[in-house]
Amino acid sequence: MGTVIFVSAGPGAADLITLRGARALARADVVLADALADPQLRELAPDARWIAVGKRGFEHSAKQTEINALLVRMAREHAVVVRLKGGDASVFGRLEEELLALQQAGIASEVVPGVTAALAAAAQAQRPLTRRGRGRSVSLTTAMTEAHELQAARSADTEVFYMAGRQLAALGRQLLGAGWPADTPTLVVSRAGCADAITSEHRVAELAAAALLHRGRPTVVTVGAGAAALGSCRAASTASPKIEVLPTPAPGLARA
Ligand code: SAH
Repeated sequence: MGTVIFVSAGPGAADLITLRGARALARADVVLADALADPQLRELAPDARWIAVGKRGFEHSAKQTEINALLVRMAREHAVVVRLKGGDASVFGRLEEELLALQQAGIASEVVPGVTAALAAAAQAQRPLTRRGRGRSVSLTTAMTEAHELQAARSADTEVFYMAGRQLAALGRQLLGAGWPADTPTLVVSRAGCADAITSEHRVAELAAAALLHRGRPTVVTVGAGAAALGSCRAASTASPKIEVLPTPAPGLARA
């Protein structure tokens, strides 16, 4: 009977995995990998059988059940099984179901933390998620529910929405409905942490304008204090609708 190590792969660029995660991959006999993980991570697990199990978008429960069963079977047949998940395994990663399946089968597990998309986006745009005095709380929210309905609220000074890429217009409307002022700064970052990341800045009322720019890419939307320009004492306000594409900071992500 083996151990399953849940390794957080980071937001998509291979070099944003942790050292601990890389070491777990080096020991792996089998890797069950998510779709968002950088294929370059395979190089860190030269001896492992690599099985792609994840898919982009909403995972159906049937599919999740199959992944749970595969995980248990692999752990019974191998010493070290790595379950590689995009971003941080604990954030919108269906970790609960998989941990529970292992627990019920009496299989030992370990979780290695990683860089979640909200943090990668903040680093990409160089907009700190917390701000002294005015950005005291951060909430991570999925824009998707089981019923595929969009739900947005105003529960923290800074709110980061995952899985909102396909419905930016609806998200903007919901945010206004939830009480965010129309000129609330909003940052949209797709493929954060990757060499081809795109960052754009909007007022909440014009969020729809970001849809085309980020279409088809994994995207997070940061709303409120953590999206504000550096040094602005509150929500940055612009008189006219504006899409500002921020220059991508020097990536330092030279790909091999
Ligand atoms: N566990 C992951 C989240 C999985 S849900 C994490 O911690 O980041 C998938 C959603 O994550 C996507 O719809 C998108 O909203 C976000 N996401 C993942 N990678 C991203 C990236 N590189 N840039 C921006 N958003 C990303």
